[in-house]
Amino acid sequence: MPTIADYKLHRVRLELAMPIGDSQVEFAVHWMTVMELTTDDGLTGIGFDLQQGKPTPALAQLEAQFEYNMWPVLKGSNSFAEALRITRPRGGNVGAATLPQAVETAVWDLMGKAAELPLYRLLGGTNPSVPAYGSTLDFHLSDEEFRRRLGEFKTMGFEGIKIKVGHPDVEWDLKRMAIAHEVMGQDADLMIDANEAWSPKEAIRRCHIFQNEGFDIFWIEDPITREDYAGYAQLRGEIPFTRINTGEYLGFSGKRRLLEAGGVDVVNVHGSFGMSRAAAHLAGDFGIPVSLGNTIMEIGVHLAASLPEVLYLEFSDLAWNKLAKEPVKFENSRAFAPDRPGHGIELDRDALAEFSCPE
Ligand SMILES: [Mg+2]
Repeated sequence: MPTIADYKLHRVRLELAMPIGDSQVEFAVHWMTVMELTTDDGLTGIGFDLQQGKPTPALAQLEAQFEYNMWPVLKGSNSFAEALRITRPRGGNVGAATLPQAVETAVWDLMGKAAELPLYRLLGGTNPSVPAYGSTLDFHLSDEEFRRRLGEFKTMGFEGIKIKVGHPDVEWDLKRMAIAHEVMGQDADLMIDANEAWSPKEAIRRCHIFQNEGFDIFWIEDPITREDYAGYAQLRGEIPFTRINTGEYLGFSGKRRLLEAGGVDVVNVHGSFGMSRAAAHLAGDFGIPVSLGNTIMEIGVHLAASLPEVLYLEFSDLAWNKLAKEPVKFENSRAFAPDRPGHGIELDRDALAEFSCPE
């Protein structure tokens, strides 16, 4: 069995083609960490981490932190055991890890490579393709730019689109929905995301306005604050004409409370493979489907292709795909998990060198 023998980190700065954001935030740059874990038998697992809103520490500092609290455990360990271990969520144990997501992705990649299977197959999936929607992250774009962005997704073949709402002026929200309808067509699934802009009362009021104006909304995402479980349950009762998608901002325990409160129609999972699988299992027990939010390099496609009740996978066509030799393919409103061992994303070494920013 492969033993983890060495590592390499890359600090990457990727400028976005246009600012992305929502009713609460705006970003123009991705600060990423790319991790390579190598085994004694010559396999390399690749993992990623993303920090939005502020630069990651300089490479030397990242390495020092990693050496201090992760490497002593990883070095010489078995990559299968690292991928499968469940740690006890107690006390100072919670949230203490350095680059946990990059490590987790890299060890799952190693496991797939050792088994010579694409991750979605290792995780039990049989069909590499899943329904995908375009996600415009458009709150800071002008109407003109927004229209152009929608046009790009339409050209790519998307039949579902998610746009941002939550502007103080409800007319702005209505105008953007009208533009989405106009560009994507009335038959496209329309999702809207308020990123917690509203109180429960305002969310109910707006959703009724949207409905009365003739917009058939596939789901409303994060209308109110993440931990208002009672508010979500109330909302769900008062807007039966659409689905509530939430849970993106919650950890496992929050997702459990949300499901127990009866406050969700679609649970949003992404990030950690292990925790997303557990959350999807839990949602299934409540008879509730899941959706996958954006994941770095789109590797969540493997998770989506391996889970039984996935409505949709999000795609925003972001700059990280520049780092992939062959990015995950999106065609006819579907995403296709690469049929290569592991997550199947090979690094484009020229691009990695171009965007590397050690200090
Ligand atoms: Mg969202």
